[in-house]
Order: sequence, then C-alpha cells, then structure tokens
Amino acid sequence: MDCIFCKIISGEIPSEKVYENASVYAFSDIHPLTPVHVLVVPKVHIKNIDDISEENGRVMSDLFAAVNEIAAMKGLREKGYRVIINNGKAAGQEVFHLHMHILGGKEDLGGMLA
Ligand code: 5GP
Ligand code: ZN
Repeated sequence: MDCIFCKIISGEIPSEKVYENASVYAFSDIHPLTPVHVLVVPKVHIKNIDDISEENGRVMSDLFAAVNEIAAMKGLREKGYRVIINNGKAAGQEVFHLHMHILGGKEDLGGMLA
C-alpha cells in the first residue's frame, strides 16, 4: 500500500522515533508546529476515524495510552498539551493513516483554531 506512515512504521522511510509498543508507533513531525510535535499512529493501517468500529476501536485506547506515556516522557504534563486528529477534507487531513498530533512544550498553545 502506498502509505507514507506505513512506510515510516516499517522503516522504509526514516523517522525520529519517540515511542513504540506492539500496536503503536510515534515519531517527531517533520514540520514541527510547537517545540514538541509528535505524531502517534496505530501500526495497522486505518484511514481515519471514519474507519473506526467496535472491531478495531481498541486502537483508540492504545493511542491514548501512548499519548499519556509520551507526555510523561517529554515532560508535558505540568504545562499541559494539545492532542489533535485532523479528520477528512475540512480539517486538512494530509496523510490518510489515522494519527494523533501531540503539541506542546510551551506555556500557551494559543486558541484552538488558528
Ligand atoms: P495531517 O494534516 O494529515 O493531520 O498531518 C500530517 C502530518 O504529517 C503533517 O504535520 C506533516 O508535517 C507530517 N508529515 C508528512 N510527511 C512526513 C514524513 O515523511 N515524516 C514525518 N516525520 N512527518 C511527516
Ligand atoms: Zn498506512
């Protein structure tokens, strides 16, 4: 499958790994918007939330558990941080492999929308 994040997970495309477990891979965004900008993805290819069902929905709790770990690793808990999923066209989703953005590392992340 021609998916850039599947290629990052397999190692075919290099990435700056932040965290990995059996079901989740996380890496630094290539164009960081904040001092800490990490992408957290399920290892299985799921296009976006539209494809979440009772059968595969476990990946959402796996992703959030990974976000919690990464926030602790990166020292984000005290200041707080933002988690974003861009879902589909209006949200500007660029890569159609489900991912959460973790944004943090500064005192004030600004308003929710630019
Ligand atoms: P989206 O707009 O789909 O929510 O976000 C896709 C994100 O993936 C963007 O923030 C973009 O900078 C990041 N990205 C796209 N291609 C690559 C890549 O090859 N490596 C890394 N590390 N990040 C990428
Ligand atoms: Zn993929």
